[in-house]
Amino acid sequence: MSRTLVAVAAEASTCTRCRLAESRTQVVFGVGNSDADLLFIGEAPGFHEDKQGEPFVGAAGQLLTRMLGEIGLGREDVYITNVLRCRPPGNRDPLPDEIESCTPWLIETISIVQPLVVVTLGNFATKFVLNTQRGITSMRGSVYGWHGRKVIPTFHPAAILHGGGERSRQFVDLHDDFALIRATLDAAAQPSPGPAGGSEGPAAPSGTGPPLPERVGDEQLELF
Ligand code: SF4
Repeated sequence: MSRTLVAVAAEASTCTRCRLAESRTQVVFGVGNSDADLLFIGEAPGFHEDKQGEPFVGAAGQLLTRMLGEIGLGREDVYITNVLRCRPPGNRDPLPDEIESCTPWLIETISIVQPLVVVTLGNFATKFVLNTQRGITSMRGSVYGWHGRKVIPTFHPAAILHGGGERSRQFVDLHDDFALIRATLDAAAQPSPGPAGGSEGPAAPSGTGPPLPERVGDEQLELF
């Protein structure tokens, strides 16, 4: 029997698998609807998240909340988490061994929530989930198949804020990506046609990406 998200979060709250346990205020596991169709993965908690114990509560979180509102969703409708559950000192980038240590928590989270659509915010989440070295600028704007669900990479809201905000080209792209998220979510929620045939479902969102390499040997993904 699978564990509940509450049980997993309780176990993670005392995690010491990596060095970030020494400098964190608290583990920031995730927030939102544990039965959500849409799940967001950011990078790591920042200053405010570390203090409050909730992901995306600072300025970047406000932008994420605003973008959700523009596609008719609230934070309570989705699940929000990160690649890392503890704040890296000074908000430095996650290190490879920290990602390796922490992502089993992420994988277990996804296996419980079972979202239809996963949105990766920024390079770290995108590279981990899609097992790619391509940067977010080339990955965004497309929908990728991943273990029976859809993945949509887009810019991390913090990168938008640090890169010119609403006047930036990335902000326009972010809007486009959220429109793609809405369309993909609506299409994924449609009942599939019966085995006898029938009309085609909604057209696949534009820009369907290249086939993903299988993560052969990653036993955790069997949880999906
Ligand atoms: S970052 Fe992840 S692996 Fe490292 S101590 Fe925190 S919860 Fe554990």
